[in-house]
Parts: sequence; structure tokens; C-alpha cells
Amino acid sequence: MTKPYRVVITDLIVEPLTFERKVLGEIAEVVALDVLSEAELVGRIEEADAIMVYHYFRFTKASIDRLQRCKVIVRPGVGYDGIDIGAARARGIPVCNVPDYGTEEVADSAVAMAVSLARGSHFLNSRLKRGIGAWNVDQALPVPRLRGRRFGIIGCGRIGTAAALRAKAFGFDVAFYDPYLKDGVDKALGIAREMSLARLLATSHIVSLHCPLTQETRNLIGEREIAGMPKGSFLINTSRGGVVDTLAVIDALAKGHLAGAAIDVLEKEPPEVDSPVLAAWRNPDHPAHDRLLLNPHTAFYCDEGCEEFRTKGSLEVLRALTGEPLRNVVN
Ligand code: NAD
Repeated sequence: MTKPYRVVITDLIVEPLTFERKVLGEIAEVVALDVLSEAELVGRIEEADAIMVYHYFRFTKASIDRLQRCKVIVRPGVGYDGIDIGAARARGIPVCNVPDYGTEEVADSAVAMAVSLARGSHFLNSRLKRGIGAWNVDQALPVPRLRGRRFGIIGCGRIGTAAALRAKAFGFDVAFYDPYLKDGVDKALGIAREMSLARLLATSHIVSLHCPLTQETRNLIGEREIAGMPKGSFLINTSRGGVVDTLAVIDALAKGHLAGAAIDVLEKEPPEVDSPVLAAWRNPDHPAHDRLLLNPHTAFYCDEGCEEFRTKGSLEVLRALTGEPLRNVVN
């Protein structure tokens, strides 16, 4: 029997579409295109009643303008910087995200990487594997006690808050910079608030980024900002690659200004094989090698969260197709 609607998943998710069909199967034909570039969408999305877009490419005005009857574009994830939400708004198409499926996992990853770096675990493991240094703590020195050191959070939304609670449990003096939060968030969480980014950077032993990628936050952290962090401090980026100038991070590691950095997100993903970041990370002779922790944009992932974002994304599509109010419109 033909179903009244057609839902197209552009990328990342492939058959079996168990979670999507559980929610949408009765009213919609659900197809996964499994493409890696926007160009491959031509001729395959025009008739869609709803689109689910992940993150392998930018979903631009060119694609949006070809949609003939689309009622919603769902990004079954948090960051929607890959979708031209203005172009969708101009066409009257709501764009919705799924903001909460991985709040805890990203915070877990950020704080886990921070502590692994700041305790010397990553550095020692990396060197030991290559047979470098004595079988004692000498090579990791100095290692300051973490209790009372400042854990600085940029962007204290869902993930930033979850990271703050975790960092507090480690005994850090937690502080945040977020110009968009109302007064009192610091008191509700029992942490400090800095009203200037420069001051948060200058006073933190660890800085962890949890803001979205916007025009304002693009290259928020570059050479000048890193120079404003204390010598021997750490930088953690699980937000978006475009927020941080990763080459400036490598440079600061190589010069010994930063003692460590963890990067889960890069401006271009996956990176080119000859990218300077990968080169430094792979090359045991590069001075940043042992101090750089790299992950392939996986801070969000856990099996339960994956089911959650696919199911919640499908439920948002269902609401759009059946005329129910949408929950997480971002445009
Ligand atoms: P959120 O919207 O709940 O919180 C973001 C916070 O950043 C808000 O409080 C906002 O006021 C603040 N902010 C905005 N502009 C800022 C600026 N210029 N300076 C400082 N703060 C600013 O979002 P969230 O759920 O906490 O997610 C945060 C980001 O994490 C997402 O936008 C996404 O890019 C990233 N993310 C990454 C992964 C991953 O796997 N690495 C997974 C999920 C989300």
C-alpha cells in the first residue's frame, strides 16, 4: 500500500532503518540515501515531505530551494551550523534539531580528556609506548594538583552545565563565560562567572569549549587568545572545529605554551591525510605529538544516544507531518 509521505535521510544512517520506521513506518516511506556530498542529492530529495540531515556535508540554499513540498528539515543532532537555516526560513520550512540526546556523553568526553591530559596520563602513555623516558614520574613533571585549579567553560548551556557539574566533582574551581545567559546561573550551579572571555582564559588551568559555531564564535580561539592563557594550561574542544584555530593550538603545544590539548572536532572532517594537524599528531618527532589527544568527532557517541537521536528526530518529523506543534525549531 502506498504511504502518503516520503521521508528522506540524506547521510550517515543506512539500512536497517529500525528506529525511524518504528515511529514513521505507518504513514511514510523512509529512505536512506547514504551520500557523502551535497551534489549527490540532486534528483533525490525534491519530492521529500521531510528531510533528516546529518553532518557529512553542508545542506545549502541550493538543496533547500529544490524542495517542493518539504514540511520540516530535521538535524538529528545538536549543532545545526551545517544547514542554511536562513534559506529554509525564507522558504517557510522549519529546521529542528535534537538538542539533548548526547549532553552527558559530550561532557563526559570533555572532562575525561581534560583530566587525562592534566594528570599526565595521556602524555605518559604516549611516550611509554615508544619506549621513551624512565619508568617513573620524572618525565611528566611538573604535574600540579587539580583541586582548586580553575576549569573554565566557554558556553554554559546543556553540555557546558553537565561539564561544570563533573568538573566540580573533581574539585576544580569551575567558572564560565557565556554572554547570553541570564544573571544567576552561576549561583544556581555554584560556580563562578566571568564577564570577559579574556579573563576566563587568563585565569583557567583548563579551558573547555561548549558554545555553538556561529558567525560570532568562528575562530573565537586563535593565536592571541591562546597567548592569553597561562603557560602550562590545557585546551579542550568538543564544540566545533571552526571555533578554534587548530593550527594555533599545535603551534602553542610545540612551543610549550600549552601543556596539552584535546581535539574532537576539526574544521574539515574527515581531515585531509596530509593535514598539518594529523602530521603533528602522527609524527613522534613533532614536539606536539605526545601532548595532543585527537578523536574523530565521537564525543557524542554511545549506543543508547544513537537510538535516542534517531527516535527523537523521527518523532519531530512525525509531529511535522501530522500537524502537531514542533519541539525544537531553530530558525
Ligand atoms: P546549548 O545551546 O545548550 O548551549 C550553548 C551555549 O553556548 C549557550 O548557553 C549559549 O548562550 C552559549 N554561547 C553562544 N554564543 C556564545 C559565545 N559567543 N561565547 C560564549 N558562549 C556562547 O548547546 P549544547 O547542547 O550545550 O551544545 C553545545 C555545542 O556542542 C553544540 O552547538 C555543538 O556544536 C557541540 N556538540 C558537539 C558534539 C560532539 O560530538 N563533539 C555533540 C553535540 C554537540
